Amino acid sequence: DGDSYGVLPRPCRALVLLNPQSGSGRALDDFQAVVQPMLAEADITTTVFVTERPHHAHEKVRDEDLSQWDTLVVMSGDGLLFEVVNGLMERPDWKEAMKKPLCILPGGSGNALAASINYYAGYEQVAKKKLLTNCTFILCKGLYTQMDLVSLSTASGKRFFSFLGFGWGFISDVDIDSEKYRWLGSARFTLGTLQCLAKLRVYQGRLSYLPMGPEQGSSPAPRDPHAPVTNGHIPQPAGTDAPGSPPPDSLLVPLGQPVPAHWTVVPEEEFVLVYAIYQSHLGTNLLMAPAARLHDGCIHLFYMKAGISRVTVLKLFLAISRGTHLDLNCPHLCYVPVRAFRLEPRVAAGIMTVDGEALACEPVQGQVHGRLCRVVSG
Ligand code: ADP
Ligand code: MG
Repeated sequence: DGDSYGVLPRPCRALVLLNPQSGSGRALDDFQAVVQPMLAEADITTTVFVTERPHHAHEKVRDEDLSQWDTLVVMSGDGLLFEVVNGLMERPDWKEAMKKPLCILPGGSGNALAASINYYAGYEQVAKKKLLTNCTFILCKGLYTQMDLVSLSTASGKRFFSFLGFGWGFISDVDIDSEKYRWLGSARFTLGTLQCLAKLRVYQGRLSYLPMGPEQGSSPAPRDPHAPVTNGHIPQPAGTDAPGSPPPDSLLVPLGQPVPAHWTVVPEEEFVLVYAIYQSHLGTNLLMAPAARLHDGCIHLFYMKAGISRVTVLKLFLAISRGTHLDLNCPHLCYVPVRAFRLEPRVAAGIMTVDGEALACEPVQGQVHGRLCRVVSG
């Protein structure tokens, strides 16, 4: 539809939020050497805001007069973009603010969104300087489109807007355990995977989800005759939200209540990992959800059941680099496209991650919000 795509104006004024500590600490050098000359050719002027601490970018975009900028560029890993998205969503004018095209330039060690956008654009799977050059070229072209976000809520009352994925267990452990090898760049994940494989753990909890269904959102789901009439949605009282309040999660019921009857509850309660991803790539060399697109309205839910051997886990992880893991037909690896999910860990064990950032382990649920922001893409 007409509102899905746009192009940045020329000249274009870009605010660049850059984390000098991201990745192996070369983001500022790479920006000056690789990015700035290309953007100058494309008539894109840059104002660089170098972050000094965690949460700095969050505060900056929450309080910024956005009319000065045509795009907000993040030169870092996924963590800094997560701050930017959530800073914008905290604004009373978030509906307007979320129309500002965002752009990611890979400067971190976890560059999953950059790798995904590189893939959607049809480019070969590359890393490091090549990925940075491709993403900068995409910014020079200036086309943007809409991107889904997933609203995540925790039992302790936190709420996040996530663009990449939510994880628990194996992959999240690798992500956080390997932080100490940040100087290795993205190789930190390879080393981390081997270390976590050696001490393969099992996590207990209950996983539930609302499947995508053939016609998303329009057909009534088969339901329990005693359940309230919901037509797949939990009705929200109309017009009660204060202007500027964040969008309600119409598919979710409070975490204290059982999931709606038309949801699926996974019978197994022992997992090696649970990962809900909404982009194709989990890292530069991890093509986890080849079918994912920026606004497919879908959460690609993966879970690995306990009882899997270390060798099989390793085979699957090697296959993820080419996106062929589902072709192995491993009975322990399950994949289901969903619109919402809930995870209730039995005990507060293991690390949870949102867009690669650590989160204390507690019950979490989430649902997709289609086309909530805009992102520069090829
Ligand atoms: P990486 O992929 O290398 O982890 P991220 O963009 O994810 O890079 O950044 C990691 C974290 O660094 C983010 O949570 C962000 O809040 C934090 N951060 C931002 N600026 C700084 C800074 N100047 N010093 C230390 N940490 C920072
Ligand atoms: Mg990170």
